[in-house]
Amino acid sequence: MRRVIKIGTSTILTKQGAINKELLKTMSTGVLKLVHHGDTVVLITSGAVGCGRYLLGTHHANNLSRSALAAVGQPYLMHAYQEVFHPVPVAQLLVDQSHVARPTEAMALETAIHHLWKAGIIPLINENDALSSAGHRIGDNDTLGALVAGMMSADQLVILSDIDGLYTDNPSTNPSATRVQRIARVSHEHFHQFGDGQPGPFGSGGIVSKLKAAEIAQGFGIETILASGHDPAVWDWLIEGCYDHVTRFEAQKEAR
Ligand code: ADP
Repeated sequence: MRRVIKIGTSTILTKQGAINKELLKTMSTGVLKLVHHGDTVVLITSGAVGCGRYLLGTHHANNLSRSALAAVGQPYLMHAYQEVFHPVPVAQLLVDQSHVARPTEAMALETAIHHLWKAGIIPLINENDALSSAGHRIGDNDTLGALVAGMMSADQLVILSDIDGLYTDNPSTNPSATRVQRIARVSHEHFHQFGDGQPGPFGSGGIVSKLKAAEIAQGFGIETILASGHDPAVWDWLIEGCYDHVTRFEAQKEAR
């Protein structure tokens, strides 16, 4: 199975803003389990800006742009991935909107991913926050994940967050909200229906960008699984195709 897996900031960083090495290790073990099972995987990783903020300290970071924070945090983030995947090599691909919108650049990205797969290297993709200027930004990694999933004709987009699915309302402000098991087709009503759209304290896209990503993926005929990146069982569920503890946005087969 070909999967594009997006890992959110709230999963990569601890509440103090440091890289959650333990969780990243569990995640790398899970990804390698999928690979040994025969899957091909692309990882979309957030966290560079948060890493920059952590490294420089809040006081210093508050005077810097997102771009500068991403430039500081990106190599730190990549080093953490190299460590947890060792001895399996990982590779960094920093992209901007042109890589998903313009045929020549899109072809370059697609070719790079194929070459890495062929060489047994795990591609890690992130938006080039340090350099992409306003107007050339994809904006959030959930959307980037969906666009890469479409480009690579993936079977599944997996969004790992600090929440185990889509809830009927924002679970951090409404404790009686319940998880939605499946969404056959994302509609405009869903964007208003599922809460205030506020991200968690360390996230950026919030549930709106996850709905948007699932909608884009459905447009490509690809299913989306929104699951908790904090639950180590998630990797076995993916292998088994067990979607009882996540939200599954079903594929629109006619879109294929
Ligand atoms: P990530 O860093 O993984 O991208 P975000 O913080 O951007 O995560 O988005 C996940 C957060 O969105 C959840 O922790 C939750 O606080 C918030 N949220 C708001 N509305 C909802 C909803 N209807 N269902 C699930 N989560 C929601």
